[in-house]
Amino acid sequence: MQNHSKKSAPQIKIPPPSKVFLKRLSDWSSDQKINETVLSAWQNIEPLIDFITAGNFVAIKLTFGEEGASGYIKSAWLSGLIKHLKEKTENLFIAETNTLYREKRSNAVGHLQIASSHGYGLERTGIPVIIADGLLGRDGQNISIRGDHFETVKIARGICESDSMICISHVTGHMQSGFAGTLKNLGMGCASRQGKLLQHSGTLPEVTLEKCVGCGACMRVCPANAIGIKKKKAILVKERCIGCGECTVVCRSGAIDIKYDENVVKFQEKMVEYAMGVKKALNSRVVYLNFIEHVTKNCDCMSKDETPIAPDIGIALSSDPVAIDKASMDLVGIEKFKEAFPEIDPLTQIKHAEKIKLGIGQYELLEI
Ligand code: SF4
Ligand code: SF4
Repeated sequence: MQNHSKKSAPQIKIPPPSKVFLKRLSDWSSDQKINETVLSAWQNIEPLIDFITAGNFVAIKLTFGEEGASGYIKSAWLSGLIKHLKEKTENLFIAETNTLYREKRSNAVGHLQIASSHGYGLERTGIPVIIADGLLGRDGQNISIRGDHFETVKIARGICESDSMICISHVTGHMQSGFAGTLKNLGMGCASRQGKLLQHSGTLPEVTLEKCVGCGACMRVCPANAIGIKKKKAILVKERCIGCGECTVVCRSGAIDIKYDENVVKFQEKMVEYAMGVKKALNSRVVYLNFIEHVTKNCDCMSKDETPIAPDIGIALSSDPVAIDKASMDLVGIEKFKEAFPEIDPLTQIKHAEKIKLGIGQYELLEI
């Protein structure tokens, strides 16, 4: 007897879109208005968050900006949110890690001074700043992730030991990832110094000696003392280079450059694998806020003010680090980032993040 039952069609699992909430704000001139908007946006999504409870160590991860920069997120904008969260847990703090390049923020002493001068002193916010990878950025913890580039990643211990995190990022362009938002703040911003270096390796510049005129501009701008001039030619000390790309911008002879095609892809993929490590270390107890305002070509690590490349949009919030960055790219217009850095496709970070299941780029935008 023949079996006439139909063979069932293979099931294709379509992941649901992640929710991204958006509080629009076009006028960023009043700190008070911004502060109220941030708190109101937070209170809209708070019923969905169950991991900020009494006694928990809750890190607010953000960046204070380099000395001379002005685009960073101002403490006055967060005062209402901080006051509100302090009522939930007395162990609330601001977390940041040291930079790889040798400016003031490369050690905890200088870093705390910048934090204070940019409005993030204890007397101003009422909560302490913890430099989560220690005095010199050496305090990291290995987190196993099994990515394409890394089996384990090195995340700042202070981040790993937190119970949960609120990751607050300023959306900008970036000379190596094309776009900097949540994934960059997580991946690069929560790594120990060694972890940062491992992400940057592979994005080092090369000097074409025939083109080099020995002017020394690259040497003067290098934050890592990685360039010397010998016999009127620039010499790169690869062990010191952090791949920031500053030298490539100032060279008028086109003698020093990064091979972007291959390296910027790898850099973004590595950064995203580090972001995965942070999410894993915190057992997904993280919520993300993107400030989509004063969107500049470069990130706040540049010690200068820059003209925005796009209009201000508002504040995005999500529990999915991939969806919030994809939504932020779309809201600004991805072409703005591609115009700023034509050789970099910022969608690489979204695609790789989806591949390693850090989150999903498909999102539902809900205006609040
Ligand atoms: S990329 Fe250039 S400026 Fe940056 S650390 Fe390396 S050599 Fe110095
Ligand atoms: S800026 Fe360019 S030309 Fe001048 S020393 Fe550096 S590599 Fe050579």
